[in-house]
Amino acid sequence: MQSFAGKVAVVTGGGRGIGHAIAKAFVEQGARVAVVSRTQASCSAVAEELNASHPESARAYAVDVADHEAVQELGARIIADFGSVNILVNNAGVTRDGLLMRMKEEDWNTVLDTNLKGAFNTVKAFMRTLMKAEDPRIINIASVIGLIGNAGQANYSASKAGLIGLTKAVARELAGRAVTCNAVAPGFITTDMTGELPEKVREQVLTKIPLASFGECADIAAAVLFLAGPQARYITGQVLAVDGGMTM
Ligand code: NDP
Repeated sequence: MQSFAGKVAVVTGGGRGIGHAIAKAFVEQGARVAVVSRTQASCSAVAEELNASHPESARAYAVDVADHEAVQELGARIIADFGSVNILVNNAGVTRDGLLMRMKEEDWNTVLDTNLKGAFNTVKAFMRTLMKAEDPRIINIASVIGLIGNAGQANYSASKAGLIGLTKAVARELAGRAVTCNAVAPGFITTDMTGELPEKVREQVLTKIPLASFGECADIAAAVLFLAGPQARYITGQVLAVDGGMTM
């Protein structure tokens, strides 16, 4: 069954890791997808891969989500290319870890501008088209770190906690137009981002996960597709932790 036939999804950070898995899952369920990433190489590679298995299902767009003007222009281009947008997934994110004592202002700004302002920028770019679309959805990829904090990630924790606040405010503002807005909070998922962690840290993290393993990108994609589907129409302003029980 193709549950997303006729739907259009925009997935930021779709060039790798979790975003790639989300874009792939949507296409496999019949949606067409705008794959957005920072570099042209990564979004084009994903779009090519998706078009090879599902012809004309994906288009690639490179943008820095932190750049407000560029995102508004890109939004207009995507709407012109696809006709409308039903689903916006704010997944683009970065880390610049370090203890607060040594954290540079630039590292704070980069993380807040990408992870939090980036979502503000895309919501602004797509909210009008979403309000007119069928089953309109906004899904923000937050993090368990936005719920519980983490030493060495003040910037990242603040950005993801902020994203959860944004999720709830947007959910309230757009509820009257039937646009739902929810967050998914992944725990530790195997991607390039967590691949950078030293082995010792990975071992420590594992002791805190009741299900005793890291998650897969497909686990996050499954949660996103659930929230994006018509069956989730009465769920808004929520944070769904997909974390092996880490934050229960
Ligand atoms: P990756 O580092 O594997 O991929 C990040 C993606 O975001 C890339 O496609 C990258 O583009 C894109 N991106 C980064 N900065 C920008 C920017 N300024 N403008 C546009 N695109 C940008 O990340 P993950 O797949 O691991 O993470 C995806 C999301 O999930 C993030 O928001 C992350 O915070 C969150 N998350 C991840 C967890 C994990 O364990 N992996 C845990 C909790 C949350 P490009 O490919 O061109 O570089």
